[in-house]
Amino acid sequence: MPRIVYVNGRYLPYARAAVHVEDRGLQFADSVYEVCAVRGGRFMDIAKHLDRLERSLGELTMAMPLGRRALEHVMREVAARERLVNGLVYVQVTRGVAPRNHAFPVPSVRPGLIVLARTRNQDDHTARQTDGVAVITVPETRWARVDIKTTALVANVLAKEQAANAGAVEAWFVDTDGHITEGSSSNAWIVNTDGALITRAADRKILAGITRIATKKAAAAGEIRLVERAFTLAEALAAREAFLTSAGNDIAPVIRIDDHTVGDGRPGPVAKSLLQCFYDVVDYEPAGR
Ligand code: PMP
Repeated sequence: MPRIVYVNGRYLPYARAAVHVEDRGLQFADSVYEVCAVRGGRFMDIAKHLDRLERSLGELTMAMPLGRRALEHVMREVAARERLVNGLVYVQVTRGVAPRNHAFPVPSVRPGLIVLARTRNQDDHTARQTDGVAVITVPETRWARVDIKTTALVANVLAKEQAANAGAVEAWFVDTDGHITEGSSSNAWIVNTDGALITRAADRKILAGITRIATKKAAAAGEIRLVERAFTLAEALAAREAFLTSAGNDIAPVIRIDDHTVGDGRPGPVAKSLLQCFYDVVDYEPAGR
């Protein structure tokens, strides 16, 4: 359990950290978020997470709640107070508190800001990377702007719950063209029968993952041929390898898709070699005072 949470200017004990009932994040999911990993006491690619936060806010015509340096300071402070070594820092910005009405409040109100840090179980994290994970597939049911990192995640929640009930760690969305878009909280990759590494281009049908960027760098460093295009479920089932990427998992090999075993059912050589240089291509910044 986290010890403290930053909520709207104050560092509060976890049990007392709360927002107003008319916060628009609560009523409309009128809110965006970021999840930045901390590894060995250092933020991974925090600048890219803040860039993406600024983009998400811009798409919703919301302002940054604090200057970028001040926000980074709060993230470091929360990580420090939490004594975070390995885990995640969660940042959520809402349009603020106003009497319920779909249109934006006039005049505008102060944005809401929540920053929370959570330690992760490093053994589980490593086990997913070394043993691989199972995924299921579900129909794509999300809205048309999943490139914006909003907290409108109920379709993702239902998909993840279905995965959990099937003993899998992730659900991959399949659109009406038969293409896999991405996972409920991760990006999707395959290595096809020709040995090409394939992931969907960062269009409006996926979130442009920060881990996806680092994985692209790792592929370039390892001279692994990457093709950014949509791939079908049929291609994924025929693939030599598959894996997912996210700040929570970094790179996790996928060894089962629905009832189908991927490759020989063990993490493949491409995923393993990407993992080997992944941590060298990330930018690190201290996650403490
Ligand atoms: N897609 C979705 C829907 C996600 O929620 C996430 C996790 N934030 C990702 C992709 C991966 O993004 P990142 O690598 O920045 O964690």
